[in-house]
Amino acid sequence: LSDKLDRAVKNLKGEGRISEINVATTVKEIRKALLDADVNFKIAKQITNEIREEALGSNVLTAVSPGQMFTKIVSDKLTDLMGGEMTPFRPTGTPAVVLIAGLQGSGKTTFTGKLGLRLKKQGKQVLLVACDVYRPAAIDQLETLGEQTGVEVYTERENKNPVEIAQNAIAHAKKTGKSMVIVDTAGRLAVDEQMMKEIEAVKQTIEPSETLFVVDSMTGQDAVNTAKTFNERLNFDGVVLTKLDGDTRGGAALSIRRVVEKPIKFISLGEKLENTLEEFHPDRMAQRILGMGDVVTLVEKAQQAFDEQEAQRLNKKLRKNQFDLNDLLSQIQHIKKMGDLKDLISMVPGMNKMVKDTEIDENAFKPVEAIIYSMTPQERTAPEIIDNRRKKRIANGSGTSVQQVNNLLKQFNEMRKTMKKINRMTGGGTGGSKAA
Ligand code: GDP
Ligand code: MG
Repeated sequence: LSDKLDRAVKNLKGEGRISEINVATTVKEIRKALLDADVNFKIAKQITNEIREEALGSNVLTAVSPGQMFTKIVSDKLTDLMGGEMTPFRPTGTPAVVLIAGLQGSGKTTFTGKLGLRLKKQGKQVLLVACDVYRPAAIDQLETLGEQTGVEVYTERENKNPVEIAQNAIAHAKKTGKSMVIVDTAGRLAVDEQMMKEIEAVKQTIEPSETLFVVDSMTGQDAVNTAKTFNERLNFDGVVLTKLDGDTRGGAALSIRRVVEKPIKFISLGEKLENTLEEFHPDRMAQRILGMGDVVTLVEKAQQAFDEQEAQRLNKKLRKNQFDLNDLLSQIQHIKKMGDLKDLISMVPGMNKMVKDTEIDENAFKPVEAIIYSMTPQERTAPEIIDNRRKKRIANGSGTSVQQVNNLLKQFNEMRKTMKKINRMTGGGTGGSKAA
């Protein structure tokens, strides 16, 4: 899948701007990628249509490649669709009661154990309740988890009524001063009426603060249908996505969120108890679905720092050979905002000569900035008028030496020459035959 998106984005890289044609191709690739990640077909289509509109309606930053910009549009869209912000898990009540629902094998019991451990680590007094009355093995399983995590487990092996067990467990929790009760329930292999009635009854009786629906992310499209049915009957509060430790891309998260409009609260990433339960972060999941790694952060950094209009204005000036010391100053400021100076300095031709490689840090440009600040507006736009008398004044004003001022002016002239050369080569200069 990651390959597919790579290819999709590569369609855009190297292209000067986002055009109708390469957007169409890329959108098609992205749709394929989403389908591969188990996003429902209809939803994938809706999403990609929206992405296309946005991409065509947006202007491309001169300094950032269109491919990265596109990636950002896609990942923003997916993040939004999955709720944007993280939804914290904060059940209330004394004790706070959490009900766990889902199909058999979805990972309810495992999740109950993990959540118990997590809450215990947060200093809560936790009680786990075994309400799977059909499989004695399920009770054993929860008891084992309780032993492994040091969390108390409430069981009634002879009782076949989950409503009663749950009620008794909550009474026991109150008596023993527990702050959290997690009720694990039975699940069938497919949604069936008896099971639904049973869990509905449990919910009505114990009135949990949170009902969490657990779903196996590997079941793909079925996961969406199951979520829908459970939500219609139980009106659950949040979703837990399990088994995201394989190469499952997590497209189910997107579909489920869109279909049931309930937040995903946790993801479970393995059979081990420790460090395999995470709160759900929509932005991270968007990256997982698209297999993008850190690209997004990079793009965002660049975008924050790069004022689009400024970049366009600069581009025009460069093409007309009108780049002056004001522009140099604003470039330095942009570059400083972007953080990683070493990488970024290479973006402006000639800039690397202004500072020594070993000195590249926040202070590297300080003398350069000071010198330019000490110049009059006229001197900044037409540095050729700077004679020896002016140089002395500028050096004094900026706390530098005439030699440093000379140095800067020399470098700046060279920079301009380089730019002229580039312009001539690309046919963009004032003397060139065609304008952009
Ligand atoms: P339940 O029937 O809903 O209670 O599901 P279980 O908790 O018994 O889990 C069913 C199977 O899935 C067990 O073999 C678990 O070890 C496994 N399982 C549960 N959660 C995860 C997970 O996040 N990752 C992986 N790889 N396996 C899981
Ligand atoms: Mg179970």
